[in-house]
Order: sequence, then structure tokens, then C-alpha cells
Amino acid sequence: MMAVREIYARRILNPTRIPGLRYSLNPYVGCAHGCVYCFADYMRKYTGHREPWGQFVDVKINAPHLLRREIERAAPGVIGIGVVTDPYQPVEKKYEITRKCLDVLRVWKGGISLLTKSDLVLRDADLLREIEGVEVGISLSTYNRKFAAELEPRVPPPDERVEVLAKLAGSGIKTWLFLAPLIPGISDRDRDLERLFEAARKAKVGEIFVDLFNPYPGALSRLLPHMEKLLPGKGKSLLMSYKKDRMAYSSEMKMLLLRLGWKYDVRVKFSF
Ligand code: SF4
Repeated sequence: MMAVREIYARRILNPTRIPGLRYSLNPYVGCAHGCVYCFADYMRKYTGHREPWGQFVDVKINAPHLLRREIERAAPGVIGIGVVTDPYQPVEKKYEITRKCLDVLRVWKGGISLLTKSDLVLRDADLLREIEGVEVGISLSTYNRKFAAELEPRVPPPDERVEVLAKLAGSGIKTWLFLAPLIPGISDRDRDLERLFEAARKAKVGEIFVDLFNPYPGALSRLLPHMEKLLPGKGKSLLMSYKKDRMAYSSEMKMLLLRLGWKYDVRVKFSF
């Protein structure tokens, strides 16, 4: 059962070193989406929760109030919403913290970059359209429905997520796609990637931004059994070779994705 707790944050806009962003804003701590490879599970140790990752959420109920005060003094710059945990996870339906923050940000001129895996973002298209310099990104690690159902079981299938971007673009909102994390054997199948790029072009996605899987011990141990289930006999060895030599895989993927970007006329950028 999901543990949901209401908390009072001390501040809501935090400086960040993520390229292209000046601040990060996360309305929730923890994430009910519970993706197997999630890197944000390190936050659990600061929360006092005993539930496993994906089974707890803390709701920063004073976030809109704090934000109203903080933006009065904040220097201009892009605010990244949801850079740690998903701002449109299921509790947002009830609490509407993200929506209330967007309402406050209608006066912000520094730009906003929002990232989610949920179609709930469509609810707020009206507000997003009103904010200057807003960009919405949707993340996915694979375009393969079977793989996604195993690794990202509580979010819409990948093709439906790209459809969300098409709808946002249709409302005049700038969009991007976050292809991450790239997982060997999962994210790199030719047929899935061709279909993904074709769908991205049709959805008028402005850019595909790509990041690698970070094989730190926590994420690796959660991912391994799922890899063996999806790719029996080779899932584990694929991950282990990747862990030993990420350079080879990243160069190969760069070449492949740049070629697809050129073929489908979609801009591709890399964090590596
Ligand atoms: S949606 Fe993002 S933050 Fe939430 S579990 Fe998945 S990867 Fe982690």
C-alpha cells in the first residue's frame, strides 16, 4: 500500500548544476511510479520512510505558498520541474501541487522545463500555454511495450507517452523527448528505435535528449532480475559488460541515434 504523507518544505526553488537549468522544483519526495531503474531512490534515506522505493510519497503541501515568496527574490533563470521525481504522479490528481505551482509561475519570465512520464500533464495544458518559455519533456527508456511494462509498470505505454507530446505540440507548447536511461538490450533495438523516431517526427517533438543508465549498485541490483526475465541468459551479461566499459556502448549509441535523427529529421542531443 502506498504511504502518503503531507510535509512542509523549508524552500522549494533549489539551485542546480544541471546544464540549462538554474533551479529545480520538486513538488513531491518519492515517486509512486516506481520505475525499476530509477536513480532517485537515494532520497529515501532522507525521508525516514521504511517502505521500498515506489511505495511512498511526501507531498510538499506548502510548495505554492513558498514559491510565490521565493520567485519575488529569485534571479532569472530556467526552473526545472520534476528533475528528481515525477510532478504528475498519481497523488497530483488529488493535491494539485504542480498545478498550483504553475499557476504561481504564470508571472515567471525565466523559462520552465518540465519533465514527466504521465499523461496527467495534459490536464494543465491551459496553464502551460500561458507561461513564457515553457518546454515539456516526456521520458521513456524504450519504445518496446513489453519491456516498458516490466521496467516502468505504472506509467502509460511509450507510444501513448509520445502521443501526449503530440497533443501538447498541438496546443502550441514546445516539447522534447528524454530517451533515458539507455539500457543495453532494452533501449537499442533497431525496430523500436525506428518506430520511436518516426513517432517523434509525427508528434513534432522539438528535440530528443539522450542519457545513459547509471549502473550504481542500488539501480543495478533492482534492474538485474528484470533484465534476466526479459532477456533470459543474456540480460545479466549485457549489463555487466556495460558496467565494465560504458565508452564502447555510448559511442555505438551516439552513431546510431545521430543517424536516426538525420533520417527522421529530429534533433538529437546527448548528456554524454
Ligand atoms: S517516474 Fe521518474 S522519478 Fe518516478 S520512479 Fe520513474 S524514473 Fe523515478
